[in-house]
Amino acid sequence: MGRQSKGHAIMISVPYQGHINPFINLALKLASKGFTITFAHLEFVHQKLSKAHHSSNGTEVDLFTQARESGLDIRYATFSDGFPLEFDRELNFDEYWEIILRDFAGLVDEFIGKTIQSEPFIVPFLVTDIVFYPWPAIIADKYDIVNVAFWTQPALVFSLACHWELLRENGHFPCEDNVEEEINYIPGVKSINTRDIMSYLKEAGSASVVFKCLPMATEGIKKADFILHNTVDELESDIISALNKYQPNYAIGPINFSRNLATYTVSKSLRSESDCTQWLESKSPGSVLYVSFGSFVHTSKQIIEEIAYGLLLSEVNFIWVIREGILGSGDTNVLPVGFEDEIKDEGLIVPWCDQIMVLSDPAVGGFLTHNGWNSTVESMWCGVPMICYPIAYDQITNAKLVVDDWKIGIRLCDQGMSVDRKVVAEKIKSFMSGGSISKNLRVEADRVKETMRDALESDGSSERNFDKCIEDLEAKIH
Ligand code: UDP
Repeated sequence: MGRQSKGHAIMISVPYQGHINPFINLALKLASKGFTITFAHLEFVHQKLSKAHHSSNGTEVDLFTQARESGLDIRYATFSDGFPLEFDRELNFDEYWEIILRDFAGLVDEFIGKTIQSEPFIVPFLVTDIVFYPWPAIIADKYDIVNVAFWTQPALVFSLACHWELLRENGHFPCEDNVEEEINYIPGVKSINTRDIMSYLKEAGSASVVFKCLPMATEGIKKADFILHNTVDELESDIISALNKYQPNYAIGPINFSRNLATYTVSKSLRSESDCTQWLESKSPGSVLYVSFGSFVHTSKQIIEEIAYGLLLSEVNFIWVIREGILGSGDTNVLPVGFEDEIKDEGLIVPWCDQIMVLSDPAVGGFLTHNGWNSTVESMWCGVPMICYPIAYDQITNAKLVVDDWKIGIRLCDQGMSVDRKVVAEKIKSFMSGGSISKNLRVEADRVKETMRDALESDGSSERNFDKCIEDLEAKIH
């Protein structure tokens, strides 16, 4: 019999890459502190993982074998979301998510009941992604268990979303699309222009599922016992302090990295990764621009074409991730005809890669990114400045933090403006040139990198917050 478990965390992952990565890392971190973990993926995610990592039907994939062999008490489970495996949950995002938010509590109920029974002598509690609300509050109520909520994006985005009523009172929810006004009434948020708020708070986003579900989700979130944030106190301290007036909040990021923990090999990626190492080895330090728009958002063929020729005109080395489905259609001819021949050895196009490995490579000197929060944090951790091209959701607000608050990036173009190849080329050239703008960005990026790394030292803010959270959690569950 091993050491006494501190409690049994039941964790169900949101089925998208940008949520899977931080959630798995949170599971490992909790397990390393002596908790028993049951971590569940939906079956269709399991199927994708199996395909990406074993290229067959691969039912043998168990994410945590290695972690278990090292002594962590962590199990892997799967269950169905009720949709056929082949249903495209990315393409049909709104339809899928509306049903998930409405029906998931019922679906998940049986799984949670069984999981609790599987460990009758260890106190169970829920750890769920906030994107799943309101169902975790319903289930936690039903089983009378503690409910830990995890927010994978910056605290600023959380605060804006949770204060939707205040935004509405001030005429900013939904916010008129082209209005530019300062918002300076959200507790802990000094000021943010309406152009920088999340797309789903605006009129154009008001048909989206996120807009429609916000009131019901925030009602559920109010019932969470603890809220964990994938951010760092030093970067968002006023916002976290203001949020603490409602509930206990803990900044524990960046969760995708660790300084003191053993790192376990866990299959997280839903796509097979191309190896870029050899190509990167042939490039001089800081000379490569890494380009990726994440795992989820779509863009148009016309924008891809402008960026493609902008890259070519800039004469800068680049790695560009063109993932399958990036156009949001079955069209597989994404790049302009003949482009791949034209780039010769200056560019490498891959369908997917190990992004953290690429960003950590000394040859990489910049990241043209859509500013998904994981990508943003990964770039910050590696000290790589960014060219921001946010497309939707929180990406717009994340880019504001990067450009205006932390000064570690520039914008590719103003929000809503069209992308033009000549402008793209000029921006990339000056960004990668080592000139004064580029130098200042690099100085700030190094500073932020140190802040992030300090936070994960054993006496750093995120480590202390994590330990405090565990102490509070243990006091609450026992
Ligand atoms: N990612 C990756 N390989 C790629 C592109 C992305 O491993 O070729 C990972 C990246 O490291 C990040 C996640 O996919 O952890 C994307 O999450 P993010 O929040 O940046 O964007 P989203 O996909 O949610 O829009």
